[in-house]
Amino acid sequence: MSEPKPAPAPANGGADTSRHFVRQFIADDVAAGRNGGQVVTRFPPEPNGYLHIGHAKAICIDFGMAREFGGRCHLRMDDTNPSKESEEYVEAIKRDVRWLGFDWGEHFYYAADYFERMYAVAEELIKRNFAYVCELSQEEWKSYRGVPTVPGRESPYRARPAAESLDLFARMRAGEFPEGSRCLRARIDMASPNIHFRDPVIYRIMRQPHYRRGDDWQVYPTYDFAHPIEDVLEGITHSLCTLEFEVHRPLYDWVVDRMDEMGLLTVRDGHTIRPQQREFARLALDYTIMSKRKLLQLVQEQRVEGWDDPRLPTLSGLRRRGYPPAAIRDFCDRIGVSKFKSATELALLEACVREQLNRTAPRRMAVLDPLRVVIDNYPEDGEEHFEAVNNPEDSVAGTRRVPFSRELWIEREDFMEMPQKKFFRMAPGQEVRLRYACLFTCTRVEKDATGRVVAVHGNYDPASRGGTAPDGRKVKGTLHWVSARHAQPAETRLYDRLFTVPDPEADDTRAFTDFLNPASLRTVTAWVEPALLETLPGEGVQFERLGYFCADTRHSRPGAPVFNRTVTLKDSWSTSGG
Ligand code: ATP
Ligand code: MG
Repeated sequence: MSEPKPAPAPANGGADTSRHFVRQFIADDVAAGRNGGQVVTRFPPEPNGYLHIGHAKAICIDFGMAREFGGRCHLRMDDTNPSKESEEYVEAIKRDVRWLGFDWGEHFYYAADYFERMYAVAEELIKRNFAYVCELSQEEWKSYRGVPTVPGRESPYRARPAAESLDLFARMRAGEFPEGSRCLRARIDMASPNIHFRDPVIYRIMRQPHYRRGDDWQVYPTYDFAHPIEDVLEGITHSLCTLEFEVHRPLYDWVVDRMDEMGLLTVRDGHTIRPQQREFARLALDYTIMSKRKLLQLVQEQRVEGWDDPRLPTLSGLRRRGYPPAAIRDFCDRIGVSKFKSATELALLEACVREQLNRTAPRRMAVLDPLRVVIDNYPEDGEEHFEAVNNPEDSVAGTRRVPFSRELWIEREDFMEMPQKKFFRMAPGQEVRLRYACLFTCTRVEKDATGRVVAVHGNYDPASRGGTAPDGRKVKGTLHWVSARHAQPAETRLYDRLFTVPDPEADDTRAFTDFLNPASLRTVTAWVEPALLETLPGEGVQFERLGYFCADTRHSRPGAPVFNRTVTLKDSWSTSGG
């Protein structure tokens, strides 16, 4: 066996997540010349909801493997179930896959376009004695099927002649029978220890309009029957999916075998393509949920602002929150691909986001919870501008001029009248640096009738303009600030985890909605430096010492951005905010 192509270096500083079993599996096939060495994968979402970060994992694997092995990945709407699917979801899915950075080229497909061919395969199975129309009720069918440890019982309809089944199947299609009265079952093995092999249902009557096919169809294929057919027809070589399908794999292979016998396998470049399914663990993230049904519930019950609410793990929510697609791809790289179910910490995703934004986001100053500072020895209507670095990580990002005057806003948290030990920020008699501007020492406070500090007075050192003293004396605290006269108000949304517990679905006796975090969104009016008003919707910035924020794409207006907090800085409030 030859070596697979060299894998990209792992991004997680040590643990090698790059040589995972899916990559190895494909590499072995390519090396062995299976399917003529071709690699064609697919990402097959059902358009019944928006994509989420779990789907991103699957997308990165499906498109990533194809890219790596010089193949291609199809985007396929797995729309074989008429209920709950819609064109809105189709469009959202395309947008999100593109945004993540992947391209399906001309290979966009709808599974529903194969209905006629799927029906023909089913008819052929009947003719070949591999399927029959069964009239057991659902309850009877279940009891006949039994449990894995004891062989099931054969349906009384199992021996029905093919001609009779063919006629009944045609009449099912024509809408002659009510839902649930009949179904088409594959004739496989009622004694198999794999319950999915016990004459599984492959077609059932469903009287619901399909979002693209209208009332054309009264019968619909099951996933287990439809999926291998879709893969065969598209000439997919590697059908990658999540672990719950592992026990269905023998059935997948059974359908592929039957199609092979019927001469229906795709031939591409002279090679007969035989798809194989492999399974990897789903991504689960703590403090969130990934079920499309539950996400839909949150949207429908208006517990969030919509599918793109920045608190949701949907790709459109993460985009609105300000997560760069490169950070999500990096995250998917770092978690790797395995067969072990485990919940990944949200902290890892946030670390990827910080790392990315640290490189790209311009630094700005904004104050979320303002406290007035008056520089008593600064001229009443004096004003000047200081040069501020846009991004210390990016040498071409340049500088900007930040206005300064006698009255400033600082963060209320950055002042303590009676400082605790190791509190190096502003306190009476304690010199601090006002970032980019000067050194300042508080001399006294002003309080209101309730004793709350409403302003801090003090003096600056005129020799420290720019932020350093000529004698080189050190100060431990560096604070961000905005000039009160120049600052502009901006609505700012501070997001936190959507749930209060790591696994809101763990307790069967309670609704997951019981664990929604009531403080997941807090809206404040921030005072921001003038440059921030130019932030374009979707653009990310760092509010120095506070975190990464982005201008909301829904609520921002020209010159009046609304900011979403993307993620806090790891930086605590302890020492210099440098
Ligand atoms: P449903 O709960 O409606 O079945 P689903 O989450 O499985 O939805 P699909 O639209 O069927 O969603 O998923 C498309 C593809 O994404 C499938 O191949 C599925 O295995 C994969 N996928 C879905 N959720 C995750 C997840 N959390 N982690 C990794 N892959 C996932
Ligand atoms: Mg699914």
